[in-house]
Amino acid sequence: MQIDILHILLGALLGSSIFYWYETRTKQKISSLSIEAIIHELKTPLTGLSWIFSSLSELKEGELLNRETLVLLKEGMVKIGNALELTNDALSALNTSPDYATYKFRNYDLVSIISKVIDENSLSAKEKSIDLYYKQGKSPVSLYCDEIKLTLAIRNIVSNAIKYTPSNGKIIIDTKQSDDEIVISVSDNGIGIPATEINKVFNKFYRAHNIGDISGSGLGLFIVKNIIAGHDGRIEIQSTEGRGTKITIFLPVKK
Ligand code: ATP
Ligand code: MG
Repeated sequence: MQIDILHILLGALLGSSIFYWYETRTKQKISSLSIEAIIHELKTPLTGLSWIFSSLSELKEGELLNRETLVLLKEGMVKIGNALELTNDALSALNTSPDYATYKFRNYDLVSIISKVIDENSLSAKEKSIDLYYKQGKSPVSLYCDEIKLTLAIRNIVSNAIKYTPSNGKIIIDTKQSDDEIVISVSDNGIGIPATEINKVFNKFYRAHNIGDISGSGLGLFIVKNIIAGHDGRIEIQSTEGRGTKITIFLPVKK
């Protein structure tokens, strides 16, 4: 593989400056349309840089690079991955305001939405030996919702549960239906949230102080909150630091 060292350095420099600029800008305000356009434009170079770094990081020691450069490049890969994750989250946040005009409501089966999210997350749960358990009701639960947005919301809650639960933990997903309400809950026995911070975790970019080095941008629950509001529902969170977290979504049954 022939790669010019100048290109590598330029790529690394460009990658880190874009990341710094992007992080600073997005943390100021992401709600205006121009920022949305910028974020969208950033996806292309970031994806390209991600490819360059990924190719470089596959080189073996001594094949052009020394050990130190390889370490740096691998760190660069992680940073770019984070920037891409943040870009995707920011775009989702902008596209999921509780503005009904952007919602495409139809009747969907909630059980299949949850099964899909479990399938998508089963590998990451398995990697941490986490038991991801769904107390599935016997029959399908028909729900009038925007399937894509609701899936995104449930996916965020389940991936949080996996992310913030140490190895060998347990996550229980439960659904209940009454005449006028459908209740979805996700409980974990993970790190929990400090009592003084529980009310803040739905705020844009907020991350609690007990997360250690677990990566994230603090946008997931902000997106979830908007999506649930877009369904005229509500969301509750119960958590005890060091014991676990339960997130419950209440959605009205619309006939
Ligand atoms: P991302 O935007 O990538 O999802 P994130 O996970 O940090 O990043 P949110 O999903 O919005 O952001 O969550 C906000 C914060 O709430 C987290 O940083 C964490 O402190 C806390 N949190 C959310 N879910 C859990 C959970 N199941 N257990 C413990 N803490 C949680
Ligand atoms: Mg999250």
